[in-house]
Amino acid sequence: MSIFCIALPMGGMRRRDITTFININKPKQKQLQDLVMSFVLRFTYEVAPVFTLMEAVVLERMRHIVGWKDGDGIFSPGGAISNLYGVLTARHYACPDIKQKGLLGKKQLVLFTSEQSHFSILRAASILGIGTDNLVKISCDHRGKMKVAELEEKIIAAKIGGKLPFFVNATCGTTILGAFDPVNDIADVCERHKVWLHVDGAWGGSVLMSKKHRHLLNGIERANSLTWNPHKLLGVPLQCSAFLLREKGIMQQSNEMHADYLFQKDKNYEVIYDTGDKTIQCGRHNDIFKFWLMWRAKGEKGFEAHINRMFELGNYLRELIRKREGFKMYKRLLLVCSVENSRNGRRREKEKRIASSYQVHQSYDDGERISYEIFVIEIELIVKCS
Ligand SMILES: *Cc1c(COP(=O)(O)O)cnc(C)c1O
Repeated sequence: MSIFCIALPMGGMRRRDITTFININKPKQKQLQDLVMSFVLRFTYEVAPVFTLMEAVVLERMRHIVGWKDGDGIFSPGGAISNLYGVLTARHYACPDIKQKGLLGKKQLVLFTSEQSHFSILRAASILGIGTDNLVKISCDHRGKMKVAELEEKIIAAKIGGKLPFFVNATCGTTILGAFDPVNDIADVCERHKVWLHVDGAWGGSVLMSKKHRHLLNGIERANSLTWNPHKLLGVPLQCSAFLLREKGIMQQSNEMHADYLFQKDKNYEVIYDTGDKTIQCGRHNDIFKFWLMWRAKGEKGFEAHINRMFELGNYLRELIRKREGFKMYKRLLLVCSVENSRNGRRREKEKRIASSYQVHQSYDDGERISYEIFVIEIELIVKCS
């Protein structure tokens, strides 16, 4: 019942409505979910005080896990938007007057990401007026990790060409191959050339919760910003994505418009809790409560065990497939890798049982038509069929 009480002030719902609501004959969990999800996290502290504070403590805890003492952040409508925030904040950092003056007359901005990175970086280049032609794609090694020497060469080439390199994206957990770009080496390059380093950890960010596996993201604390989706590896229901920053203030400066009917400076609480003026939205969906509740229930130990378990399941599935006659290794993915020679028509019942879903896809690999079998253990695993 305490949950309903704290929810009361958030959405302007009257007590009688809530009583009616919870008496509807639905499974309890669903009632609670519907109730909580119907509340919007508004733009100022006074319209959603509890959820605002929940968001603040969870973001702080996430930054602590990254290794940042201070910093900033926001829950956004997904990893693609968190990545957009990354490019937007870096653009403001490089050229603060773009906010007022626009892009015209500026040096050509250039951004860098690996060829295996998520398409939302490319889209951010389009949305923010930089242009997709000004996104430089860096090639990857056979495991799908960015080639760092090539990154530095291309940054230098852009500078020589009179352009302004301002943003590098390192992906921790690439969407297809599950590769982790070497963050420390990339951070060295970014520091040398004074370029903003964003890490797209949309799915791999959650690995930070495992002491055993977080070395995959070594150097993460040197990044300027990070995308981390609890709605991927941690299993929080869609949508729940955090955009985190090492430094406080810059996100606010980048986005604030000072609407004075909402964001007065002389309130009787700290106005940093008025989150509405540092986002690209105004009111926001309440994505925090389910995550906060899950965190309270499972604890950091629970999340850690969850991540470790997924790695174990991945290794188990990989071994199972490796030992199977008619299968051979295709690519070493994070969790599973192999090629199946399906012409013998074997059924894969055991593998299918431990995966939460299984699909067969047709695709092209270097122009050659192939079919993929995809096993999903909470994240996507790809097995190629020769
Ligand atoms: C899924 C994914 C995204 C996009 O996240 P959404 O929450 O679907 O917007 C971005 N980057 C990577 C690496 C991803 O795997």
